[in-house]
Amino acid sequence: MIRKMIALTLALLMLISVFGVSESKFDDNDTIVAMIGDESDFVQAVEEALVKKGFLLEDEADGYFDQYTELAVMNFQMSKDYEANGLLTKRQLYWLDRATYNKWFDTSYIVYITNGGSRYHLWECAALKNALEIMPISVNIAEDLGYYPCKRCKPYLY
Ligand SMILES: [Zn+2]
Repeated sequence: MIRKMIALTLALLMLISVFGVSESKFDDNDTIVAMIGDESDFVQAVEEALVKKGFLLEDEADGYFDQYTELAVMNFQMSKDYEANGLLTKRQLYWLDRATYNKWFDTSYIVYITNGGSRYHLWECAALKNALEIMPISVNIAEDLGYYPCKRCKPYLY
C-alpha cells in the first residue's frame, strides 16, 4: 500500500516536472549581452555577425561597442520589430545570427510543430489548440528542417 502510494506520488511529481519544463521553456529573463562601452572578443563576434547581416561596415568590426555598433544593433532591432534601444539581448543575438549565438551560448529553446504544419509555435499559440498532434522540438532543429516561425505567436520575440 505504501509502496503504491510512493509510486503514485512519484508519477505525479514526474508529471508536474514535465509540465513545469513545458511551461518554462523560455528563459524569461532575456539578458542583455552587449551594449555601448563594452570591449571584448564577444563584441567582436557580435560585430562580425552584424557585418554578415549587412547592418555594420566591415571596418567597424573592431571589438569595441561604440556608437556605430549601437546604430547597427538598433537597425537590426527595428528590422525585427524589437524596441530599438541598442541593447543587444541574448534572444536578439539568436535572431541576428544563429551560428554566433550557438558558439557563445550553447543552448536552444523548445518550440512546437504540428502534424502537417509548416510553422513552429509557442506553446500558448491558438494555432495549436485544435492540432491533433503537437511535437516539441528544438528551435534549431525546426529551422534546419525548414519550418518557419508562426506569424501569430511570433516565437522569435521570446
Ligand atoms: Zn503560432
